Formats: sequence, structure tokens, C-alpha cells
Amino acid sequence: MSANLKSMTIPELGAILKELGQPAFRAKQVFTWLHKGVRSYEEMSNLPQSLRAALAGKYPINAPKVVRKQESQKDGTIKYLWQLSDGNCVETVLMRYHYGNTVCISSEVGCLMGCAFCASTLGGLVRRLEPFEMLDQVLFTQIDSGLPVSHIVLMGIGEPLDNFDNVMRFLELVNSPEGMNISMRHISLSTCGLVPKIDALAKRKLQLTLSVSLHAPNDEVRSTIMPVNKAYPTEELLAACRRYYAETSRRISFEYAMIDGVNDSVEHAKELIRRLKGLPAHFNLIPLNHVEESPLKPSSKNAVARFQKTLEDAGIPATVRRSLGGDIDASCGQLRRKYTKEQGSSADDK
Ligand code: SAH
Repeated sequence: MSANLKSMTIPELGAILKELGQPAFRAKQVFTWLHKGVRSYEEMSNLPQSLRAALAGKYPINAPKVVRKQESQKDGTIKYLWQLSDGNCVETVLMRYHYGNTVCISSEVGCLMGCAFCASTLGGLVRRLEPFEMLDQVLFTQIDSGLPVSHIVLMGIGEPLDNFDNVMRFLELVNSPEGMNISMRHISLSTCGLVPKIDALAKRKLQLTLSVSLHAPNDEVRSTIMPVNKAYPTEELLAACRRYYAETSRRISFEYAMIDGVNDSVEHAKELIRRLKGLPAHFNLIPLNHVEESPLKPSSKNAVARFQKTLEDAGIPATVRRSLGGDIDASCGQLRRKYTKEQGSSADDK
């Protein structure tokens, strides 16, 4: 990878600036400017002109371009489709909640995981995002919308734990007091269940919320909708969740897409209750967003309500996720999919 200054920590920037004969305090200045989303070194008004020119010659500053922007008339949700410097596109969604504005960012272009209900994975994985490309989604969503971002969820296109090092670096950058200073407690990371990476994350003892896309109580159901389950079956996944809790004391948030006739019976809920015994957890029940290419359908309102009540009666808190941006293809990967299809050729086919 060519060095991108926006992916670097302050000490790393310090090393580069030292080579250019600069004093140590410049690193913080450059970091802070980059994390304000400047598009050129000319904006870095407290740097000497000669340094601005030297940096501009060596380290271009990237900024993604808005290729589509859709705003929900119902709830103010804004969805961006960004074009990255190599022409690939990713999506970011800004959701407005009473506690603050949340951005949902992508971690990869496409996805390897192959979940049967998900639009992001239909064209496979194109490439993993660099740390600055995740940071840019937060920065430029904030700049373009004029709305301050206080919360981040890694629930867009891609599997964050499949891009582990870059995601860890992104978290460090976005959490930095000299940059966006977004608290770990305001960040959620969602995974389809890559067990060794859940263990690696646990060791870092971050205060973020781990969301696990469970979507089924057992291997029989889970393997039919999530190929990752063949590598890491539910028992191993739930054991990793228990280790994660033991290591971090952070309650796991389980995501559960409610699919008609597949995973939404009271029996399924009861099986979950049995298998999760003793593990502090919270469930987000998400009525499936219908994806054109898939035969799977959302559960009925009644089925969702019954499922929720069964979990709650057993002491497991379960929230039915309000679906935001339903009028703007806000669900994972749908906008990119539509756009690349319209373009005829596509990033998907590369
Ligand atoms: N790869 C990560 C994060 C990206 S997806 C993961 O699997 O967790 C964010 C969430 O949206 C996941 O829980 C995913 O399973 C869910 N999701 C994907 N497509 C969906 C759909 N059509 N309807 C409802 N939820 C969906």
C-alpha cells in the first residue's frame, strides 16, 4: 500500500516529518488537520509553506466523491454512495436518533461471507478498505450533511473482522482525542462470527459493543443461511461470545434478522434461551429487508412480536429494530448493488 498519512498514528506521522527535518509537534498539527477532513495541504495554515509543498508532492490527500445521496422523507436518514480513489464504491448511512447522529460505515468493498439474505455479498469481495477509507466515511458524512456524528456502527458493507488490522487501526484513529475523539462506548462492531477474530478482539479489551449476527438458534438453520457457520458452528460461536464477555465484561448484542418460516418460531426462541443461559445478552430483532435476488421474506409482525415476548419473558431483553430509511434502499449493500447494475459493467465483476 502506498503510504497514506490519514491512516497513520501521531508517532508514525512524527517519523515521516522528522525525515523532512520537522520538529515533533508538527505531527499533532498534521494529524488534527487531516482528521478535520481538509482536502489540501494549503488549508493547514499553521504549517510552513515549504512543508505544505513537500507533503503535497509526496502524499496526496484523498477524499471520496459523492456519487449518490438519498435522503429519507420519513425519518431524515441519509444514505451516501461514495466513490473511492480507485473507482470502487461503498455506502455509508447517517441515522438520526434522539441520542445523537450515528453513521453506519462499510469496512470492505463487497463481502466474502455469502449470507443468503444480504445484498452486500452478491458480487463477492472486491477488496478490503484502508483505515483512512473508513475514517473518510465518518468525516465526509459529517462535513457533507453538516450534522455532527457522535456514534459509529460498523454494520455497512463487508465483514469488519475479515479486515481486522485495518479496522483496529481505524478504531484507534477515530477514538483519538486529537482527531474525531469518538468514544469506544459509542461504537458498535458487527460480525457474522469469525471465532478466532472475536478472541483477538476480546484481548484488546475495547469498550465498544460487539454485535454478533446470530440469525438462528442452531447449526441446522444457521448453516442454510450463513456459510460461515460451517467454519465456526453455533456452539463454537457462543463459546467465543462467553469468552468475550469474560474478558471484557461487555454484554453481547445479538442481531437476529427475522425470516418468515426459517428462524422465527417460538421453538426457535426457546432454543436460543436454552443455549444462551448465563450469558448477558441483548437481542436486536430486525424484520428481514427483502433483497430482490433472494426468495427469503420478512416475518410477519405477529411472529416478530411472539418471538420478542418469548425472549423477554425469559429475561433476555429484545428490541425490534425500527427500520430507518426503508424508502431509500438503506439496507446493507442495496444502493451499491443498484448503482453497479445500472453502470452495466461493475465493481462487482472485477
Ligand atoms: N458482516 C457483518 C456486518 C455487516 S451487516 C455482520 O455480518 O454482522 C449488518 C447486519 O445486517 C448483519 O447483522 C447482517 O446479517 C444484517 N443484514 C444483512 N442483510 C440483511 C437484510 N436483507 N435484512 C436484515 N438484515 C440484514
